[in-house]
Amino acid sequence: MSTGIVHLVGAGPGDLGLVTFRAKELISQADVLVYDYLVHPELVKWCRPECEIVYVGKKAGFHSVPQEEIETLLVTHAKAGKKVVRLKGGDPYIFGRGGEEARTLAKDGIPFEVVPGVTAAIAAGAYAGIPLTYRNLSTALVLLTGHEDPTKKETQVDWRSYGALKNTTLAIYMGMGNLEFILAELQAGGLSSKTPAAVVQWASLGRQRSVTGTVSTLAELVKTSALAAPAIIFVGEVVRDHEAIDWFEHLPLFGRRVAITRTRDQNSELRDKLETLGAEVLELPLITISKDTDRLGFVEILAELGTYDWIVFTSANGVRFFFEDFLKGFKDIRSLGMLRFACVGKATAREIEKYHIKVECMPETATGSSLADALIATGSLDSAKVIVVTGNLNRDTLVRKLEAGGAIVDSLLLYKTEKTDLTLDPVADDFREKGADAILFASSSAVLSFAEQSAALALSDKATLPLAGSIGPQTTETMKKVAMEIGFEAKKPSLDSLIEALIKNLKAR
Ligand code: SAH
Repeated sequence: MSTGIVHLVGAGPGDLGLVTFRAKELISQADVLVYDYLVHPELVKWCRPECEIVYVGKKAGFHSVPQEEIETLLVTHAKAGKKVVRLKGGDPYIFGRGGEEARTLAKDGIPFEVVPGVTAAIAAGAYAGIPLTYRNLSTALVLLTGHEDPTKKETQVDWRSYGALKNTTLAIYMGMGNLEFILAELQAGGLSSKTPAAVVQWASLGRQRSVTGTVSTLAELVKTSALAAPAIIFVGEVVRDHEAIDWFEHLPLFGRRVAITRTRDQNSELRDKLETLGAEVLELPLITISKDTDRLGFVEILAELGTYDWIVFTSANGVRFFFEDFLKGFKDIRSLGMLRFACVGKATAREIEKYHIKVECMPETATGSSLADALIATGSLDSAKVIVVTGNLNRDTLVRKLEAGGAIVDSLLLYKTEKTDLTLDPVADDFREKGADAILFASSSAVLSFAEQSAALALSDKATLPLAGSIGPQTTETMKKVAMEIGFEAKKPSLDSLIEALIKNLKAR
């Protein structure tokens, strides 16, 4: 067997938009993904279903996997012919032990590639209004590690010598535990006590927090505002006036925690929109959708594919699962013949269009019932043969309406929807402990699955009680049925309108 390859890949500071194209491409091709704490969990979803995923970071109550073990893991998988992606927060060569891993790979003759990432300091500067260099103010940037035991006699970092530097920006990683010591040493080295300094925690994410002061006041400020790792400490004149260009912390939803329910395909769209406005999004994974093909039904339908007029999709998952199986059988998209495509909404349409197939029918509002109406309105249903791709949740209304419209309908079961076990889920944990400023419901089914999981999501005493937002009258009705207090309703049933209502209501709160 030929040797595989290891890609040492930087995942950037957190914000998904800051992941490189190359990183995304490699993640989606990997056989094995080895990743750390501080890597956005969303990235892991870009893997192929067959990809083996290995978490080697810290977990509550556990230590991280020792470095030698990680290196052995990389080597073993590569020797077995695997394409391994070793994903690290930020940049792999900045305080990430990527250098050590590369040396081991080189020593063992394993082919490897290094993909740089946006390192935390660069991101923290950009997202906190701190330009890291500035004409006449700062002509150098120094990246330092503060992760050292100050009681050790010989520290690797000679803080006093950095305190003597002029026109320099210091960016200190892993320094929160030694903040007081570091700032004192810098001053002992000659740095003026008036030098501006800042701490930026969770840079580039909705949960980013920052404080600014001077080298003499910063430690106290950090204590009172309870900032902690992961954070970058900045020291230098460039911190001054950061307010003027601090675009991120001024976004309308900055500092707000917004929970959404992962039940529908449009969620990533909702998540993106909220994050772009600065929110910290908690995506509660209430349901798990998995492939569950009715083999016999599928084979029967495929055998007669040429006789069908329409194929109807009510979710992007349905589209993905359909093509996965279809292409396994046929390997040629033209085997679809003249089948016409209908779908429930934009997210589903986007998935179909990936195959360069035109969606001929899509309703204005994304419901099964409106989809049936839209299909009937095409005037093409009389004795037409229609495939409806479904999951185990019933699509009775859609099917019944189509049949009443004259169609001969065959349901094709491709996936099942189950309740997610939330007891050990980190996002659910975060929600239980701290709550959220708001929770958004974009469909009745989201409300129902939330209600069904409410016991597993009971909030702690300290948690913020979220304001519940509804996308429209139907969803609101369902919220009333499950006795949920309604915080606000969108003027129009669209994500943008829902977000508009959210911003307005949080402002008023
Ligand atoms: N290779 C990473 C650094 C790993 S060391 C990189 O290039 O960014 C871990 C330290 O990085 C943390 O202790 C913290 O100082 C910093 N860090 C990582 N992500 C961060 C973030 N989103 N915001 C602020 N600091 C971060």
